[in-house]
Amino acid sequence: MAGIKTSLLSPLKQIFESAEPLSAQQTSYRGEAAALDAAQGAGVHFFTDLRRRRRAIGAFERLWIWKDTAVAGRLGRYLEVAENRAPAKFLIAAGIPVGLPLDEAGEDALWAELDRLTPEFLARHAKGEAPGPRPEGPSLLDLCRELGQRMLAHCNFCAWDCRIDRTIGAKFGTCKLVRGSRVSTYFHHLGEELIFRGLAGSGTIFFTSCNMRCAFCQNGDISTDKDNGQAVSARTLAAMAWILRMEGCHNINWVGGDPTIHLHTIVDAIGLLGQGFQPTREVAVRALDAKADRVFSFELDSGAGTWEGAFNVPMLWNSNFFMTGEATRLLRLLMDVWLPDFKFGPGRCAITLARTPRYWETVTANLALIHGWGEPFTIRHLVMPGHLECCTYPILDWIAEIMPDVPVNIMDQYRPEIYTDPGSPKYMERYAPMARRPTPGEVRAAYHYARGLGLEFEAVTHEKNTMGLRLGL
Ligand code: SF4
Repeated sequence: MAGIKTSLLSPLKQIFESAEPLSAQQTSYRGEAAALDAAQGAGVHFFTDLRRRRRAIGAFERLWIWKDTAVAGRLGRYLEVAENRAPAKFLIAAGIPVGLPLDEAGEDALWAELDRLTPEFLARHAKGEAPGPRPEGPSLLDLCRELGQRMLAHCNFCAWDCRIDRTIGAKFGTCKLVRGSRVSTYFHHLGEELIFRGLAGSGTIFFTSCNMRCAFCQNGDISTDKDNGQAVSARTLAAMAWILRMEGCHNINWVGGDPTIHLHTIVDAIGLLGQGFQPTREVAVRALDAKADRVFSFELDSGAGTWEGAFNVPMLWNSNFFMTGEATRLLRLLMDVWLPDFKFGPGRCAITLARTPRYWETVTANLALIHGWGEPFTIRHLVMPGHLECCTYPILDWIAEIMPDVPVNIMDQYRPEIYTDPGSPKYMERYAPMARRPTPGEVRAAYHYARGLGLEFEAVTHEKNTMGLRLGL
């Protein structure tokens, strides 16, 4: 038994002893030596399961969920990129030349250039066309990076629209961030929807801090502590994404807290990945500091993440969608699939539960944008206790009226956390009505309502719900 564990968890330093940079041909990577201690209590079955899971990589497109016509119809292109049958958007953007000097042009001119080039980008994307050779001058991908940096200097990433210069850091906006970004952890996430977690996991990168203040945040330890985790440069972040994909993850899942407030760093990292980036040993070691599943054995496999020799992976924007239209326009050129949250109805719940004004207007506007663009996405709605009439029903009504073809995950896993959890030192009495899970009756009522509206929710909802409820059961 000990021999099996040792063979699966040989020290990472053996891999990195070579002075050579890591490459796509790097054949194996194991959990580092320190992780052995953490794994000692684990049994052989634990590792056997992981090995079985690794063998299952590549069978993603044969999963039953893709037989659901609503899911397959909306997410078909994402699946093609995940299976390396089509290039990710960032590869296409990297092949389109820009017609003006990025560092000299004013921001309005940069946005105008983005708008001018977007139709060409979309035409190539629609055809799944091979990106041309990298232009000698700047590309559309470089333009996205430049715009991310320009926006940072008068931050309007999210709908707070703070307009502070985060490159200086003399003032804070609502997110309390300046230029730097921090990652709390990253790993193969096996708790996401089947269309994202697949068999090898969703390559999920959790950023710290948030632009909303949900009293019940299910990731409160990350979202309410901006100093959580590890500071990351764009290179470190690119290395995290590269490692996850080369280990077989089906996508790179940008999440938090919320990723919007780190948009500049994420766009920079994607820019690097579009330029043939491969992590050096030093960058890879730094990146591995925050990896939560390094005790596991995942082999690096260049075939897991390349399209015609270039690094390839679908980018997934997993967000509260409280972002500006400009941010959404920029991300349109980089994100292959979207996973918006839609929590609060049009009344005051976003104010009383998340201290967030203009929530309904902002989120519905962004959803309408990506739907109008024909983007692949599914919506998440968390059923909250006592919030059917004010939140769940109006949200489902809106989806049924505006985008009835979009799959919706009606989530039953709400649990009291941080300010709504009586067991937490941060608990606040005013949130007492939120200090319980939704009842099975409330969850069933949400399902009934969605079915009555004819929404596409059952395939993505039921494979993942925690109460095991189904209509008719
Ligand atoms: S990301 Fe949002 S909250 Fe943070 S400074 Fe920018 S506009 Fe403000």
